[in-house]
Amino acid sequence: MTRAEARGNFVRIDMEDHTCTTATLDLYREALAGSRTRAAAGGPTGSGAGGDAVGVVLQAYLHRTLADIAALPERANVRLCKGIYVEPPSVAIQDYGKVRRNFLACLEALLDRGAYVGIATHDDYLLRESAAMIERRDLAGDRYEFQMLLGVTEERRDRLARAGHRVRIYVPYGRQWYAYSTRRLRENPQIAGHVARAFFVRLLRG
Ligand SMILES: Cc1cc2nc3c(=O)[nH]c(=O)nc-3n(C[C@H](O)[C@H](O)[C@H](O)COP(=O)(O)OP(=O)(O)OC[C@H]3O[C@@H](n4cnc5c(N)ncnc54)[C@H](O)[C@@H]3O)c2cc1C
Repeated sequence: MTRAEARGNFVRIDMEDHTCTTATLDLYREALAGSRTRAAAGGPTGSGAGGDAVGVVLQAYLHRTLADIAALPERANVRLCKGIYVEPPSVAIQDYGKVRRNFLACLEALLDRGAYVGIATHDDYLLRESAAMIERRDLAGDRYEFQMLLGVTEERRDRLARAGHRVRIYVPYGRQWYAYSTRRLRENPQIAGHVARAFFVRLLRG
């Protein structure tokens, strides 16, 4: 954390499966409090909104997420995604349409709480509805960003950027990038299907 602050950088703590949610949110709260205390004492700040150096991820498919949003610290920095793990019905919504609806409810709740939100999705419906919500709320461009994986649905990404939204591209990077990427694919066969389809579409397009 202190290394990120010293470099004026930002650390996003990814979210793993539901067995890690509570510990990850606790870690985030602790890291954020420490970082804000150092900044208030004149230490370096991070590159996130308001000078924060750390943010977290919440998953719209978890039943608990709206309650987690209500318990977030002030001005939290949250990436909102659907969630990639295959989770049991006891902890996660299973229906595609209901996950979408909860994604939008979570986005609304995050914005109501004054959070900075990274809207992480490639789902056309959610991209459209999120953009409409941003417009309805007349939300300033420094309160949110869209986030997408490198190489995925690039035309949607470019369309958002052309419309004036901030868009961040997520790239698995570092010594463990390959192990990380293949692990994520193994965890959700549906995503592996998206990747294979996107690969062949690219190949056919030349
Ligand atoms: C920046 C970013 C960070 C993320 N971090 C986390 C995290 O910390 N924890 C976590 O659990 N999940 C994370 N995810 C994954 C996320 O939870 C979803 O599983 C994933 O984004 C797919 O959901 P979707 O919203 O894009 O909708 P989907 O309905 O799954 O996809 C919509 C469409 O997008 C395309 N698409 C989606 N994914 C891919 C792909 N990989 N390759 C090619 N095409 C694709 C397909 O055309 C698909 O039909 C992250 C996603 C992003 C974009």
